[in-house]
Amino acid sequence: MGTDVDFVVAGAGGGLAGAIRAAELGARVLVIETNSHFRSGNNTSMSTAMIPGAGTRWQRELGLEDTPKTFVDDMLRKTHGTVDLPLAEALAGISAPLVTWLADSIGLPIELTTDFAYPGHSVLRCHTIPHRTGSALLKGLLDRASQLPNLDIMVPARVVDIAGSPAARIVVIEHPDGSLEEISTSAILLATNGFGGNAELVKLHIPEMADAHYHGSAESRGDALTIGSRLGADSGFLNAYQGHAALSYPQATLVGWATVLHGGILVNLDGERFGDETTGYSEFGHMELLQPEHAGVLVFDRQIHDACLLFDDFRQTVDAGALRWATSPSALAEQFGLPKQTFINTLDQVHMYATANSACPFGRTSWPHDLDRSDLVGVRVTAAIFHTQGGLRVDQHARVQRPDGVVIDGVYASGGSAIGISGFGASGYLAGNGLLPALGLAYLAGEDIVTRLGR
Ligand SMILES: Cc1cc2nc3c(=O)[nH]c(=O)nc-3n(C[C@H](O)[C@H](O)[C@H](O)COP(=O)(O)OP(=O)(O)OC[C@H]3O[C@@H](n4cnc5c(N)ncnc54)[C@H](O)[C@@H]3O)c2cc1C
Repeated sequence: MGTDVDFVVAGAGGGLAGAIRAAELGARVLVIETNSHFRSGNNTSMSTAMIPGAGTRWQRELGLEDTPKTFVDDMLRKTHGTVDLPLAEALAGISAPLVTWLADSIGLPIELTTDFAYPGHSVLRCHTIPHRTGSALLKGLLDRASQLPNLDIMVPARVVDIAGSPAARIVVIEHPDGSLEEISTSAILLATNGFGGNAELVKLHIPEMADAHYHGSAESRGDALTIGSRLGADSGFLNAYQGHAALSYPQATLVGWATVLHGGILVNLDGERFGDETTGYSEFGHMELLQPEHAGVLVFDRQIHDACLLFDDFRQTVDAGALRWATSPSALAEQFGLPKQTFINTLDQVHMYATANSACPFGRTSWPHDLDRSDLVGVRVTAAIFHTQGGLRVDQHARVQRPDGVVIDGVYASGGSAIGISGFGASGYLAGNGLLPALGLAYLAGEDIVTRLGR
């Protein structure tokens, strides 16, 4: 029996990688996207476009040695051994081919981020594109998709159910007028992201961030979890998420952790630091939530400011008027209503850590730069949750599994719809752990469906 298409991809974010890969290999592909404004509204478009690749030609050009095994070891270390190992190995293994494909097949101007190392990565392995924006990444994918005659995108339409048999899946879609349509397909990829936009689910699975600002796509309602559970799928790591402690307030732009990694600090509204900022921006989101008014002030100086201009997100923060400059610690404290003497003491201590080898009580050892106290800048920031990292349990081909491990034929999941590689909670998140499962699992699904079709 013939099907309308070979492969349906629900969600035009990271799922596009799977759609394009399958179409390149000859499959008839239909992408179904619910949001007309997805080009600048989904999480892939909102991202900073940091994609890890272990063992790429960009790393080799700089003489950097890296392997999938080293990457997996980093994931194990960051998640305290809780990462799903087969998935970590599969994604670490595909990471370099994926980044290479993004350059050579999609045509993106890939470069290795060399200005600083992200927390937890033992080697420089985060690849990106100029301006470091997810919208440019998404545009590159969409431009490539438009060149493939066997790939169509239907927008706006929402995937609401999967029916049929393993031999021919029926995808039920809902049009904006409420009418339903059924499309038959050999396989479907659920790439609808997680449940960050669903406050009830966040409260249920991630209560520690129930009061945090959500900074992600409103369409991340947990549709994949709902649809998958109806099919008897297993789920896991539902309390995993990426938090962030550097979202400007009230502007809600991403200031970015490069500020910290270049030598900046984060203080609470009492003017005190509250941890080792270099452990990671994700876990710092929750730590910031526990501070007065769920808030903090990121403090850095002009040199760090200039280094961060490489990021479009940071430029937007500047353009939004979120930065306040001061020529002394006392003047900066006044700008943010911080207790002056406490804040001055904090900066005195930071100066000692950076210059006199004095030990930071929180254990921070990276002090690449002594802040210039005559040219300081601060941004008020608030704790945020960016996306959830738990979801449908998948194998190394992105195939959705039942609780007994048996694969549900013809159903795949990627990105926020699937379990991720960050273990539990917030602290297992390594930079790139969002886009690698989004693009990488979709890519693996695209290859698997074509193998299955015998093309
Ligand atoms: C500010 C910010 C910065 C980030 N930076 C990085 C980074 O640098 N590196 C990194 O690895 N990760 C980063 N992330 C995380 C990363 O963006 C996400 O993990 C990743 O983009 C998720 O991809 P996805 O395909 O699962 O979801 P999305 O890109 O959100 O795509 C899902 C799509 O599905 C659509 N959809 C939803 N439900 C349905 C339905 N039922 N039917 C049809 N369509 C549907 C949505 O409209 C959406 O377009 C960042 C996140 C944020 C918010």
